[in-house]
Amino acid sequence: MHLENSVKLDFKDVLIRPKRSTLTSRSEVDITREFKFLHSPVKYYGIPIIAANMDTTGTFEMASALATHQMSTALHKHYEHDEYVDFFSRLEKKSSAFYSLGIGNQDWEKFQQTITKAPEAIQYVCIDVANGYTEAFVAFVKKVRESYPNLVIMAGNVVTGDMTEELLLAGADIVKVGIGPGSVCTTRKMTGVGYPQLSAIIECADAAHGLGGRICADGGCTVPGDIAKAFGGGADFVMLGGMLAGHNESAGEIVETEQGTFKRFYGMSSRNAMNKYSGGVAKYRAAEGKAVLIPARGPIDQTVQDILGGVRSACTYVGARRLKELTMRTTFVRVSMQLNEVFGKAP
Ligand code: 5GP
Repeated sequence: MHLENSVKLDFKDVLIRPKRSTLTSRSEVDITREFKFLHSPVKYYGIPIIAANMDTTGTFEMASALATHQMSTALHKHYEHDEYVDFFSRLEKKSSAFYSLGIGNQDWEKFQQTITKAPEAIQYVCIDVANGYTEAFVAFVKKVRESYPNLVIMAGNVVTGDMTEELLLAGADIVKVGIGPGSVCTTRKMTGVGYPQLSAIIECADAAHGLGGRICADGGCTVPGDIAKAFGGGADFVMLGGMLAGHNESAGEIVETEQGTFKRFYGMSSRNAMNKYSGGVAKYRAAEGKAVLIPARGPIDQTVQDILGGVRSACTYVGARRLKELTMRTTFVRVSMQLNEVFGKAP
């Protein structure tokens, strides 16, 4: 047994310290980013916030709506092959939507069929498993890179610098970071495994940037300030599930109660998802996700405006004229236990 004693932090454990600034308005802040990648020749331009590849948030409707705000969507992997082909071939220009897949044979075959039909439109893929530490996962990332040298490959999830480096060297351009922080994730409760998300971001970003790679902070953002903290900690991209759930563009059963209208949002490893896609929870495993009801929130546009406004404002507070400068200008201050408790209860 080994005990690591250094302090590891979550979003709620810190605040961003304001800094002297020459900016007079948040409208002066540019939150788009341009990225080159370690392997792929594709150049990214946009606001690097991505809807999670959950079947409630990674929908075609979400992808179309977020694209109008220059944001991306990781499509969920449960659409039929024809539906992906239809979606990608309807796009007028190249899309920054991610095609998602796991590492099973079925996913691989479906992906190959789809990309053959829409080779120009699909530029981004998200290879997603709950535990990115297996040899089989690394080998799969290598296989996809060798087969498709031009694709932008995002792969995860991991939470440590060593594995971030390994995935980048295996062919990933973007490493997805986060084990356990998700709003409908129960991995930490069910297994005791996890890593405080802000520290995971800081450590994985440091490892990735040393090699010319990128990271996507995935999970745990509950308010726009958390997204600002993720970027401040070094994330190149931030992925959101719960913050984008419950909207018209999100999928999920509508539930009417005396308290109002709700939409069901559930983890992709929850009993709900496994009943829907895998014929129930297999005997050898337990669900590692839960279902919650989210008040129906209408169109996504207002939420997007709040998110982007929050990130722009964070940049103004530290004098970052561009999102790119936010990490450099971020000093986190640890909050006291008392404030931490109060802050943790904020909506
Ligand atoms: P959120 O933004 O809701 O906090 O987190 C979204 C992320 O939670 C997803 O992108 C994914 O990485 C993770 N996630 C989604 N469903 C599950 C699940 O059922 N179990 C676990 N462990 N993580 C999940």
